[in-house]
Amino acid sequence: MVEPSCLYVVATPIGNLGDMVPRAIEVLQSVDLIAAEDTRHSKRLMQYFNITTHMVAYHDHSESAQVESLIEKMTGGQSIALISDAGTPLISDPGYRIVDAVLSAGLKVVPIPGASAAIAALSVAGLPSDRFVFEGFLNAKQQARLKQLEGLREETRTVIFYEAPHRLLVCLQDIANIFGPERLVVMARELTKTYETVKRAPAAELAVWVADDSNQQRGECVLVVHGAEKTNDDSSDGKRVFDLLSEELPLKQAAALAAKISGVKKNLLYQYGLDKKGDS
Ligand code: SAM
Repeated sequence: MVEPSCLYVVATPIGNLGDMVPRAIEVLQSVDLIAAEDTRHSKRLMQYFNITTHMVAYHDHSESAQVESLIEKMTGGQSIALISDAGTPLISDPGYRIVDAVLSAGLKVVPIPGASAAIAALSVAGLPSDRFVFEGFLNAKQQARLKQLEGLREETRTVIFYEAPHRLLVCLQDIANIFGPERLVVMARELTKTYETVKRAPAAELAVWVADDSNQQRGECVLVVHGAEKTNDDSSDGKRVFDLLSEELPLKQAAALAAKISGVKKNLLYQYGLDKKGDS
């Protein structure tokens, strides 16, 4: 069932053990070794699915010697599965370093897809999902968090954040302050578990709802935020290019070149340049 010298990146459930995919069970039973974020945590999963494969702890901050030892084992023909405490490894979880090292060693990496809280939340958020950004955890320190949010204020794609329960309320308040109270936010909490809650409301309203019910400040949570409204000004890219070029080139030349690069009409950019000149 498993190939030799191969690293399997195996997703595990984010709460409900019924979400474990059959192929994940087979692979975990068949590999020579499981590299787990926390072997004690994963013991329950292993017992539940009758998996007796030996586990070793793996973190991205593990010693290089440990990564090297895993690669050595794989070069010798062993197959290894990588798991994290829940969901898909590498998604705000350890794994990047070992996957990078395995590929750099010319060995094979195979995904065994399954649950990930970000995608599960997006799938029920009812927000535009054709393009989205995954931001992981917001910064724990408020000043840094506000700066991070300011950088995302104009982002037009749907934005996904992971959040720790004790920071959920302050984060919602910060989102309402920076993105505006009316920005639509979806809180997806305890997905696949007993107290699963998906609540969609404008940011300020959602913050008040969470503040009024301390139960909502418990458990694991994903925030999915509607992107900023797109401006109607489809010449903004051309203007940005023009601004850069006009620092070095005469107005006419900058307008012609910016028009070629961006597809925005030359005359429009030339007029924009004249107006700017007039303003200064
Ligand atoms: N690798 C995991 C994945 O694929 O979703 C995420 C690991 S990250 C360390 C943990 C965060 O994921 C939690 O703080 C929470 O934001 C989110 N999360 C995990 N399980 C969740 C669940 N059942 N419901 C809502 N959010 C969850």
